[in-house]
Amino acid sequence: MLQGSDVVLIATRNKGKAREFAAMFAELGKEVRSLHDYPGMPEVAETGETFAANAYLKASAIARIAGVPVLADDSGLCVDALGGAPGVYSARYAGEHAADADNNAKLLRELAEIGAGDGTGRLSPAQFVCALALVNPVSGRTVAAEGECAGWIVSEPRGEGGFGYDPLFCVPAYGKTMAELPAETKQRISHRAQALKRLLAALAAERA
Ligand code: IMP
Repeated sequence: MLQGSDVVLIATRNKGKAREFAAMFAELGKEVRSLHDYPGMPEVAETGETFAANAYLKASAIARIAGVPVLADDSGLCVDALGGAPGVYSARYAGEHAADADNNAKLLRELAEIGAGDGTGRLSPAQFVCALALVNPVSGRTVAAEGECAGWIVSEPRGEGGFGYDPLFCVPAYGKTMAELPAETKQRISHRAQALKRLLAALAAERA
């Protein structure tokens, strides 16, 4: 899987994720396709209770139909002060098909309601988590990996880059939100980058 000049199909309609994967795979000399290039693929219900379960659900369902190896990402934000919420519900925190701005506003509302924060603008420790599953429909083989990125939720959105909760997620090593960092930096340090690095290492170990 993922050898030679294969094109990789990423089971996502999220433009932010697709953009980041395209950049990360370009560095490996590979092209990616997303579900935008495969119209007609079904919406896969994310009924799993973990990121890993949902990544596998998406990858296996799409791979079965597309007939090519599929990589799926299930990811989200876990906020300590909210007991790990929004977690697997990150995309639909403020409702089904909620816009990023609505999810961010809800996150700030929930944190305000419980009086989170120490008065310095830092509201709670948090982690971005990404689970990846790569499924080959022919061999039935699955390779999975997870990555995390730790930071702080800040009290006001900052920055224009990235997507999702990036404007509210401050990376301590840089003192900047993910949305303020250059795209190349996010692509190096993010939960998605860590997960992909581990997935590629697992694939390489299998081949060795
Ligand atoms: P999924 O499509 O169910 O995996 O939902 C992922 C959701 O988690 C996105 O819609 C974002 O709200 C959030 N998320 C995942 N990765 C990131 C990221 O890199 N930055 C900001 N938000 C993210």
